[in-house]
Amino acid sequence: MVTTSESKAALNLPREAIRTPMYIDGKHYATAEHEFFTRRSPGHGVPVTATARGSRKDLDLAVSAARRAFDDGRWSRISGEERATVLLEAARLIRANCETLAWFETLESGKPIAQSRGEINAAAGIWEYAAGLARVVHGDTHDTLGPDVLGLVMRQPVGVVGIVTPWNFPFFILSERLPFALAAGCTVVVKPAELTSTTTLKLAALLTEAGLPDGVVNVVTGLGSVVGQALAEHMDVDMISFTGSTPVGRAVMTAAGANMKKVGLELGGKNPQIVFADADLDDAADAIAFGISFNAGQCCVSGSRLIVHRSVEGELVERVCALLEKVRVGEPLDASNHVGAIVEARQFEKIRGFIEAGKRDGVQLVRGGRASSEGERFFIEPTVFRGVDPRSTLAQEEIFGPVLAVSTFDSFDEAIALANGVPYGLAASIWTRDLQRAMKSMREVQAGRVWINCTITGGPELPIGGFKQSGIGRETGRHGVDEYTELKSAHVQLGNRTRWIG
Ligand code: NAD
Repeated sequence: MVTTSESKAALNLPREAIRTPMYIDGKHYATAEHEFFTRRSPGHGVPVTATARGSRKDLDLAVSAARRAFDDGRWSRISGEERATVLLEAARLIRANCETLAWFETLESGKPIAQSRGEINAAAGIWEYAAGLARVVHGDTHDTLGPDVLGLVMRQPVGVVGIVTPWNFPFFILSERLPFALAAGCTVVVKPAELTSTTTLKLAALLTEAGLPDGVVNVVTGLGSVVGQALAEHMDVDMISFTGSTPVGRAVMTAAGANMKKVGLELGGKNPQIVFADADLDDAADAIAFGISFNAGQCCVSGSRLIVHRSVEGELVERVCALLEKVRVGEPLDASNHVGAIVEARQFEKIRGFIEAGKRDGVQLVRGGRASSEGERFFIEPTVFRGVDPRSTLAQEEIFGPVLAVSTFDSFDEAIALANGVPYGLAASIWTRDLQRAMKSMREVQAGRVWINCTITGGPELPIGGFKQSGIGRETGRHGVDEYTELKSAHVQLGNRTRWIG
C-alpha cells in the first residue's frame, strides 16, 4: 500500500528533533524548568521537533501580556488601516516562508507535502481577506427614534481571546480564526495541538516581523488538559474560540462558565454526501473519493456518509471504488502521493477499531480495510463499507479516518431524514441536476455548510460553522470578524429630557 521514495525523502528529514520554545510578549520564551516532548513524524517514525510542555504559570504570563496589550490600546485602539497593513504584511511573509511552513506541517501532521503547500498558500489568502475586514468593522446608527434621540450601535473588540486548535489542519484552521480576531482589534493567546505546534510558533514570530506589537499574539504549547483547560477557565480571558472534538468542546463550554466568557466552538461532523438518481455520477464519484481520502479522512468536513438513491447505488459504489484504486497512499514528502500518514498511534488504532468492528458485525467491506504501522509509521487505505445500517456506529460516529459508510434511500424525505439523523450538523454535499431538488435539499439539511454538486471547497468569503453538536458561532466571512466583537448600544439625548418629577 505504501508507495514511497524513501531515500529521496530521507534527505529532507531533520537530523535531530528541532526545539521550538513558546512565544510570549513578542519573544521566544523558555526557562530551564521547561520540559520538551518529542514529536516523531507519523510518516517516517523519526523525531522531528521538540515542543515545550507549558504550565499554568506560563499561561498566566501569556494572558497578562495579552491583557496589557489589549488594555493599553497598542492594537485595540489603532485604526483599521494600520491593522490591515500588518495583516497584509503577515500574508506576504506567510507566502515567502511557505516552503518551511509546509515542511514542518507535513513532518508533524503526516499530510502530503503538496497539500501542505496548498494549505499554507490558501491560509495567506485568508490573512489578505481579513486585512480588508479590519477596515470594514463598523456599527450602526438609528435616526428614527424621534427628534431628540440618536441611537448608536458600536462594534468593539471582545478583548483577550484564547484560541485552541486541533492537529488536522494546524496552520489553516488557525488562519480561519486568528486574523479575524486581530482584524477586530483583539489580543490573543493560542494553544495549538500538542502534536502539531511548530507552524503556530513560526507564525507568531512572522507576525512580530510583520509589525504586530508585542503581546498581541502569544503562543503557549503543552497539554490540552493543562494549558487548554486553564485557558478556557481563565478569569482574564474574555472569549474562547475552540476547534476540536465535540466531547472536549463540551468541557470547554463548562470551563468557560467560570467567568461567563464568550464561546465559539467548531466541533466534529459526520457529513453526508446525498446522491440523487439524476446526479452526474462520474463527478459525484470523484468528489466522494476525494471527500473520504482528503487528509486521510482526518477532516471535520470529510464526506464520511454516502446516502445514495437505491437505483444508482451499485453503479456509484463501483465508480468510487475504481477511483480509490488510483489513490496513492504513502510517503508524505513525495509530492506525487495523494494521502499521507495517520497522525499518531492512538488515532490509527481508533480508525482500525472501527474497521475491525464493521467487519466483525458483518458489514460488507467492498474496498480497502488495510492498515500498516511498521516502524511507527501509520497508514490506512481508503475503505468503503456498503449496506451500512444508518443507526449503526459506522454511520453515527465520527471516525476521523478514510472510512466511507454507504446507505441507500428510496424517497426525498428519507434522504433528508438519513442526512439529518446524526447528532452533528457541520457540512453536507448534495448531488442532483434538478435545481428545485437541490434547493429544497439545501433548505432542509441541517448543516452549517452545504455544497451542491461539489464538496470541500470554498474561500474565506463564506462563513463556516456547525448546527447541532457541531458547534456554536461562525468563522470566516464578514461574520468571522463580528464573532470577535461585542455590541454596545448608546442612546444619545439631543434635546431636553422629559423630566420624571419636574
Ligand atoms: P481534541 O478535542 O482532542 O483537541 C483539540 C484541542 O483541544 C487540542 O489543542 C487539545 O490539546 C485541546 N484540549 C484537549 N483537552 C482540552 C481541555 N480540557 N480544555 C481545552 N482544550 C483541550 O481534537 P483533535 O483530536 O485535536 O481534533 C480532531 C477533532 O477536531 C475532530 O472531532 C474534528 O471533527 C474536530 N475539528 C473540527 C473542525 C471544525 O471546524 N468544526 C475543524 C477541525 C477539527
